[in-house]
Amino acid sequence: MPPSRTSYVCLPCRASYKQPCDRERADRVCPRCAGALVHLGSAFAAPRRRDTAGWRTLSVLLNAGVRFHAGCSDGPGYRPRRLSEVKERMAYAQRTGEPFAKSLLRRELPR
Ligand SMILES: [Zn+2]
Repeated sequence: MPPSRTSYVCLPCRASYKQPCDRERADRVCPRCAGALVHLGSAFAAPRRRDTAGWRTLSVLLNAGVRFHAGCSDGPGYRPRRLSEVKERMAYAQRTGEPFAKSLLRRELPR
């Protein structure tokens, strides 16, 4: 069986790289800028390079500690894709005191 593949991204380059999942290493670097890549997980689909809002959304998620996997084989569950969805969830977190990383994973916000 081929090893499953998982996604790494470089936020400054807006680039994503699929890498085999079998050998986890912490020191993967971006081939473009040699910066450290962020391990996202196997279920991630990167925004297009020109999709500024998509990449802003992604960087907010990453800075909040959200990742797109629980393990290489697990599904990702809900992740917001639009900045408006992120803003709603961050407002909810501020209102309720819930951690951002948890609110960002809510598919529906309680009224
Ligand atoms: Zn880079």
